[in-house]
Amino acid sequence: MKYPKIRNYVGGKFVDASSTKRIPLISPVNGDLLSEMTCSTDGDLNAAVAAAKAAFPAWSQTPIKERVQVFFKYKNLLEKHQLELSELCSEENGKIYSESVAEIEKCIELVEFATSLPQLVTGEVLEVSRGVECKTERVPLGVVASIVPFNFPAMIPHWTIPNAIVLGNCMIMKPSEKVPLSCGRIAALLKEAGLPDGVFNVVHGDTDIVEAICNHPDIAAVSFVGSTKVAKIVYQRATQNLKRCLALGGAKNHLIVLPDAISSMTAQNVVASMSGCAGQRCMAASAMIAVGNVDHIIEKICEEARKIVAGKNLGAVINKASQERIEKYITEAVEQGGKILVDGRNTIVAGKEGGTYVGPTVIDFVTPDMNIAKEEVFGPVIGIMRAKTLDEAILIENANPYGNAASVFTQSGSAARYIMEHASAGMIGVNVGVPVPREPFSFGGWNESKFGVGDITGKSSIEFWTKLKKSTIKWNPEATVNWMS
Ligand code: NAD
Repeated sequence: MKYPKIRNYVGGKFVDASSTKRIPLISPVNGDLLSEMTCSTDGDLNAAVAAAKAAFPAWSQTPIKERVQVFFKYKNLLEKHQLELSELCSEENGKIYSESVAEIEKCIELVEFATSLPQLVTGEVLEVSRGVECKTERVPLGVVASIVPFNFPAMIPHWTIPNAIVLGNCMIMKPSEKVPLSCGRIAALLKEAGLPDGVFNVVHGDTDIVEAICNHPDIAAVSFVGSTKVAKIVYQRATQNLKRCLALGGAKNHLIVLPDAISSMTAQNVVASMSGCAGQRCMAASAMIAVGNVDHIIEKICEEARKIVAGKNLGAVINKASQERIEKYITEAVEQGGKILVDGRNTIVAGKEGGTYVGPTVIDFVTPDMNIAKEEVFGPVIGIMRAKTLDEAILIENANPYGNAASVFTQSGSAARYIMEHASAGMIGVNVGVPVPREPFSFGGWNESKFGVGDITGKSSIEFWTKLKKSTIKWNPEATVNWMS
């Protein structure tokens, strides 16, 4: 094994989890055994929650201007260790190195935002009648949990860690069992930055520990990012147990391409969106709606897709099951009448034969009733559907139950505006293939891509991680200072 056994992080120390269930960590890049993880029991979770609970009074009473100092130091540490963190991220997730470098850059941006929170969380005060003031302040919730998926081993944990902790909460992080390494390094760097023991804890495991988190009486809020199927389970279980919950789910993002779009820029964006991170992004486009005759753009899309080479500028998909699932979608679409223009099935990378790769795939004449058009593929594949009008395109887009993102490619302001107004998605792009809002704007979809109120990052997250205290204060307006004499 390349890495030591993966351990929980509780109360500032790495400790062994105690379940008998073990999960091997296999490299998607070449199939090597990287490490092994022991799942956690309810007892292990209890120990982490107890550590977080014990740390909460002192951390929450530390003024925010002091709490934020830890994250200034942490940001420097992320910068100092960017290359090492990027390697770890690529190794466990299979994405190419430059994508991991960009992922750590995004972590730094998320921390940067958190360091501005003291400026954003000031309360209000008003004299509402003579001698009477009303005052509001944002106070932390207590012990909170963050459950994350495999596709961004470092970035998605950073959607929650800096904001929740700067705002005064203590956290239990449950990494994906498919990529458990990065969170251990994050824990060590947070400690080096001066975060007090117990404020951040890591508990490894799979389904059982997620259930235990949703049931735990001392956890006040659960943030979840993952597939819609699990987001629904977590949201229902956590809220049934009277916890605050925000659960982000899967996606089926559409790119609507009009004949007047700039062909080369559109083709590059479409291919980058569908194949970046091997299509394993909740913002990846896996469906394109060609409105009218855009054959000249489709030709360019194929040209761009053929430039993408697995193992070089395209990473691996997470595991064998994922590779098989993606290839099944492609084969099924072709059997149902889709015309395959670029075929990424049976991709093998020389020297990395044990890796799990799928090459970029473009399928034309997909119809909205096919599984490849309806479901999230989570691989470097795009299915092209044909529409005659903008309204038809909107009908296809909005018939899908997800609602993370939708983009339009056109030079027409009125067409772009029409799509922006009518597409039922939380994040809209105009001539942008991956319309992720940068900080301080918030990230979050609609419909079956998100359950709960508010968004997970940016200003919107402040409300999720805090509760509002409203005080009404009355002083005697006749009072004098004579009491001192
Ligand atoms: P997943 O839902 O399988 O797993 C997410 C987390 O839930 C993991 O920590 C896992 O251990 C846990 N889990 C898995 N099955 C469970 C179950 N039955 N009960 C309780 N917990 C369970 O997701 P994944 O495969 O790791 O990640 C890919 C998915 O995440 C895709 O659907 C993608 O679109 C989605 N995602 C969404 C966003 C977003 O912002 N909306 C961002 C990233 C990823």
